[in-house]
Amino acid sequence: MTIRLYDSVAREKRVFHPQDPSRVTLYVCGPTVYNRAHIGNFRPVIVFDTLFRLLRFTYGEDAVIYARNVTDIEDKIIAAALETGEAITDITHKYAAIYADDAAAVNALPPTVVPWATDHIEEMISIIETLERKGYAYATDTGVFFNVPQMENYGRLSGRKLEDNQAGARVDVDLGKRDPADFALWKLAKPGEPEDAIWDSKWGPGRPGWHIECSAMAAKHLGKTIDIHGGGIDLQFPHHENEIAQSECAHGEEMARYWMHNGFLDMAGEKMSKSLGNVVLLNDLLKDWDGEVIRFAMLSGHYRAPLDWTGDLLEQAKSTLNRIYGALRRVWEAEDGTASDRGVLKALQDDLNTPIALAELSRLAGEANSAADRKDETAMATARADLLAAGQLLGLLTRTPSEWEHGADSDENARIDALVEARNAARAAKDWAEADRIRDQLASEGVEIMDGATGATWRRV
Ligand SMILES: [Zn+2]
Repeated sequence: MTIRLYDSVAREKRVFHPQDPSRVTLYVCGPTVYNRAHIGNFRPVIVFDTLFRLLRFTYGEDAVIYARNVTDIEDKIIAAALETGEAITDITHKYAAIYADDAAAVNALPPTVVPWATDHIEEMISIIETLERKGYAYATDTGVFFNVPQMENYGRLSGRKLEDNQAGARVDVDLGKRDPADFALWKLAKPGEPEDAIWDSKWGPGRPGWHIECSAMAAKHLGKTIDIHGGGIDLQFPHHENEIAQSECAHGEEMARYWMHNGFLDMAGEKMSKSLGNVVLLNDLLKDWDGEVIRFAMLSGHYRAPLDWTGDLLEQAKSTLNRIYGALRRVWEAEDGTASDRGVLKALQDDLNTPIALAELSRLAGEANSAADRKDETAMATARADLLAAGQLLGLLTRTPSEWEHGADSDENARIDALVEARNAARAAKDWAEADRIRDQLASEGVEIMDGATGATWRRV
């Protein structure tokens, strides 16, 4: 079983060989927790959750360590605290919890480790001290900076040459930087900044820069060299380039053996951004769409390509999932079978080719329907097992067909159940008028009653 992954540094697909198959390591940059995350932020969550599932299937559930950090100290968080007067931990805990709920709603498994930046200040300071000792970092009146020209092969991930950065960068004289490309490792506290955003250091009270947070957390939890580092393409430069610079200059070894980046989510053909005003929050989308529909829509494009995020895409995802759950319902009562189909697995092994994997899932649904048509019990059992195994890899089909058809509102479901019961009682008492009245009432609400050999069931239509 060979997994091939597109490595952003090699700029080609490479066969994936972990350093240690009994301890496969994956790091993905997590959220800066000061507001609700938009749907674009959840593309890496869903993409790398799918990779996590593939790696767990391949190497064993306990053999894969996936770390996704929480950035709970950063300029934007301090700005939010100053604006609202709230304590920083109140802000960060609130939004980290919302983020975790949102990630769970799109069927993302909890990562193995969720390190918080402020629990690792000591480790960050220690890396900065090493960099200073080795001549890669210097202190100024405003903080400590990484001196980019000191690193020989800076820029190999993004392909940017040092001169490009210098030409594009605004020289910030006030910071006392030696080179425009230099970036902050430690930022000294400015007057008026909240107390809970300040830590002591030999350079003076302050806080870490954003890039050093990931370098420290990845090394602490996964090791100096990790197998796979992932994130959105927007993080490739400067964030990931700077993570590489810090980690490799401090540790003297490669930071990550494979770098993976997911493409942008485009809204109506434009990149989603606050300035364009086309930001969509996952939290809002979840009011109208099931998380599994959102996940399906997200996986319908290849992770490296930009994805056009439209209402049509969600509608299509919903109707395809309805069809697949409908097929699953037809084989649901079959015996436990053994999954044998490799279509979805093979597609994922080829650089997470989810569009093909979803086509394979639809093919399996077709096989379930045809087995049910033929009343072939053995084929039905196999089709059921194949669908569920494929769903497990993709983070789909996590509900029973009834749960899917009934939707998530349990109070509403209980009310419908009670009406169906009342109709059963009316039929038993041969009160056909009452039975019809209840059926018509439910039909007007979009609920269809299906009378079967084992009693009446219902579904939303
Ligand atoms: Zn990072």
